[in-house]
Amino acid sequence: KWNDILENLKQEHDISDVSFKTWLLPLEVHSVEANLLKILVPEENMGLQYIKKKYYIPLKVSIEEITGLELDIDFILPYQVTDNKPAPAPNNYNSGIKANAGINLNPRYTFDTFVVGENNNLAHAASLAVSESPGMVYNPLFIYGGVGLGKTHLMHSIAHFILQKNPSAKVLYVTSEAFTNELIEAIRNENQSANTEFRNKYRNIDVLLIDDIQFIIGKESTQQEFFHTFNTLHENKKQIIISSDKPPKEIETLEERLRSRFEWGLTVDVQPPNYETRMAILRKKQEMEGLVIDDDVIKYIASNVKSNIRELEGALTKIVAYSKLSTSTIDISFAETVLKDLISPDDGHKEITPQFIIDTVADHFNLTPAILSSKKKNQEIVFPRQLSMYLCRDLTDASLSTIGTILGKRDHTTVIHGIDKITKEAETNESLQNVLDVLKKKINPS
Ligand code: ADP
Ligand code: MG
Repeated sequence: KWNDILENLKQEHDISDVSFKTWLLPLEVHSVEANLLKILVPEENMGLQYIKKKYYIPLKVSIEEITGLELDIDFILPYQVTDNKPAPAPNNYNSGIKANAGINLNPRYTFDTFVVGENNNLAHAASLAVSESPGMVYNPLFIYGGVGLGKTHLMHSIAHFILQKNPSAKVLYVTSEAFTNELIEAIRNENQSANTEFRNKYRNIDVLLIDDIQFIIGKESTQQEFFHTFNTLHENKKQIIISSDKPPKEIETLEERLRSRFEWGLTVDVQPPNYETRMAILRKKQEMEGLVIDDDVIKYIASNVKSNIRELEGALTKIVAYSKLSTSTIDISFAETVLKDLISPDDGHKEITPQFIIDTVADHFNLTPAILSSKKKNQEIVFPRQLSMYLCRDLTDASLSTIGTILGKRDHTTVIHGIDKITKEAETNESLQNVLDVLKKKINPS
C-alpha cells in the first residue's frame, strides 16, 4: 500500500523523478496507531523540515485516496525509534546543554547502545567510573585508538550520563578542530572581550571532553591555550577527557609539558573488535533498528569486515538499503555482491580515491555522500562540496571532469570554480586552513 500511496502522490502532484527519489522514496512507514501514521525519515540530514513543509499535505491527500483513511502524520527520526521506549522524553537536560555549552550530543551514543568486548572493556570501565565521579578518579582520562572504534561514542556516553544525573552540570564536548577554530576567531577579533569570552567558556565548566586531540598537534598557539585551560580545570578538580588516535608518548609533536600532563591520569585504548564482539554489535544494531536479517548474512558481515566498527555498521546499512531496491532475498550471495567494494582482500591499506575523499568530507560535516552529489545549493552543502573538489584535485590524479562527474554530474567549469574559491579563501582564512588540515589528516593519516 505504501508504494501505491507514493506512486499516487507522484502522479497527482507531478513530482519529478529526482525529487521523488531524493525526498519521498527513502521514507518508510514506522507504525500506524489509532489514526496516527508515523513516518520514518531515515537520516537526520535528509531535510525533515523541507519534507514536512512540502509534502505533508500531498501525503495526507494521497493516503486518503488510497486507503480511505483520514490519518494524521507524524515524521520521526531513527533515534526516536531506538528500543520501544517512546521518543526520549524531551530530556530536561538538553536545555541544560544548550544553555551552558551549546553542544550537540548524538542521542544514540550512550552506554546503553555501546557493546562491551575484550577490545574496549577497560576504556568502557574507565569511562563509567569517570561518569560516576567526575573529577574524582582518573583525571584526565585519555582514550586512544584507531578510526571508527568507538572513542566518540564513549565520550558522548560520558556526557549524557553526567547530564542525566546532574542536569545543571556544565559539560562541554568539542572536537579539537572546533577548539582551534574558536581560538583563531577569538585571537583575530581585536576586541579584547572575545578573548576573555573564549577563556570563560572553557575555564568555567565542570567537564571538558575534547575529541581527536591529534588535530591540534603542531599548532603552537592552540597547544599553549589548551595547556592553560587544562591547568585551570585540573587545579579545580574538574574532569577532563581526551581522545586521540595515538597514546601521548607516540604523538611526536606534542609539547613535552602537555604530554606529561596527559599522563597524570589514566590512559586507555580501544582496539578493533574480535569476531564475537562484531557479531554482538551487529545484532544490537539489528535489534535497535528492528531489522530482520538472516543470521548467516550477519555472520558473513562479521567475518569479513574486521578493522572498523563504522564500516561494520556501514555494511549492514548498505545491505538493508539495497534489499529495499531489489526484490531478491537477502542471502549470502546477495551480501557478497553488495559488499564487494567494502570487503577488500587486503584489509588495511586504503587507496586514496575521489570517492574515499567525498565519503570522508561528508562524514566530517555529518552529511551523506549522496547529499554532496545532489543538486542542493544551500551553503552548508556547497561549501563541503567545494572542499571535496579541492581535495580530490590536491590528493588524487583524477581529472576535473571525473571529479565533476562523481560529484553529481557537474561540468568541469563548476569544478574549477569550486577549487578556485577554496584556494583563494584559504590564503587568508586561517579557520579554513585548519579545516583543510584536519581533512587531509583524516584522509591520509600517515
Ligand atoms: P571513533 O570516534 O573512535 O572514530 P566512533 O565512536 O565514531 O569511533 O564509532 C564509529 C561508529 O561505530 C559509531 O556509529 C558508533 O556508534 C559505533 N560503535 C563504536 N564502538 C561501538 C560499540 N562498542 N558498540 C556499538 N557501537 C559502536
Ligand atoms: Mg571520533
